[in-house]
Amino acid sequence: MPATLHRPSRTALRRLAGVLRRGGLVAVPTETVYGLAANALDADACAGIFAAKERPPEDPLIVHVATVTAAAAVAELNPAARALARAFWPGPLTLVLPKKAVVPAIVTAGLDSVAVRVPRHPVFRDLLRQCGLPLAAPSANPFGYVSPTLPEHVQRGLGDRIEHILDGGPCEVGLESTIVDVRNPARPCVLRPGAISAEQIAEVLGVPVSVRRARVLPGSRRRGGRTARAQRAPGLLARHYSPGTRLRLVSRIEPADALAAGRRVAYLFLARPADPRLAALGGRVAWLSEAGDPAEAGRNVYARLRTLDEGGYREIIAERVPSEPAFAALADRLGRAAARGR
Ligand code: AMP
Ligand code: MG
Repeated sequence: MPATLHRPSRTALRRLAGVLRRGGLVAVPTETVYGLAANALDADACAGIFAAKERPPEDPLIVHVATVTAAAAVAELNPAARALARAFWPGPLTLVLPKKAVVPAIVTAGLDSVAVRVPRHPVFRDLLRQCGLPLAAPSANPFGYVSPTLPEHVQRGLGDRIEHILDGGPCEVGLESTIVDVRNPARPCVLRPGAISAEQIAEVLGVPVSVRRARVLPGSRRRGGRTARAQRAPGLLARHYSPGTRLRLVSRIEPADALAAGRRVAYLFLARPADPRLAALGGRVAWLSEAGDPAEAGRNVYARLRTLDEGGYREIIAERVPSEPAFAALADRLGRAAARGR
């Protein structure tokens, strides 16, 4: 049976808040990607998230709250965290901070830190207020696959494993939140790039911000016990957010090569290609944005990868995006989607 798709009426929000309070799961819209939410203070409810996604237990969850005060109930906020909260919350920024005891170990994969965020999607905010709970919510997709940015994506990936999807329309940002570890305010570190750049964070904090590179071996996993350093932000798994079809990144797609290629190769451009002959390739040619705008490209990338993935191609060849701060999150996700092996 497919999951029920709920329009965000007051009645639906009240009902879904009840589902969450009773320990159930609800797929929710956020400005980044759709999330699979459960009561973050209920270990059994959170176990349901891991089961539905087939997510490895060493991959911690982000806790979503409605206000800074609610964040302070699950994490130890320091002045740097408060400054970032003032500047970017509600919004696509997740802070890693020392956790408070109320947060069950399953949420943080046994770590003594917790990732917390105040999202800005109005429907998700209403739901958070309505249920009055912090909600743990990773992306609402089977682990490792392309993240969902539309309710249909959630339905296709998890529809037979969950009961409720709250429809909040297409995600405005389309890429997962920036994650920054601010436990040491003198040395903040971006663990996962997102719409809010390391440069913007550095400007608010007035200190340099380092950015962690993906350096985890494909498929490497923690073996029991404590989390290895490499898994501190498992979004850093070298291969993640991936389509099933092989994806290859190139500096430039030559129209002549695309025209000469076999029918089982698809091409993904950053901007709409100027060469009119490419129109003859139909659905084998796609682009992330009309004119190469980074925000528009970020909003579209996962939907494009899904469409191409469903086209039955042998290979998708995608253009690399510029190495500028505005494209950092997009470059990161395309790089991971293209990483081979698991
Ligand atoms: P997602 O599946 O996109 O919601 O991923 C949540 C991500 O947040 C995880 O994969 C980690 O990268 C990151 N994360 C969550 N909790 C922590 C934590 N305590 N420390 C570092 N990173 C975390
Ligand atoms: Mg995910």
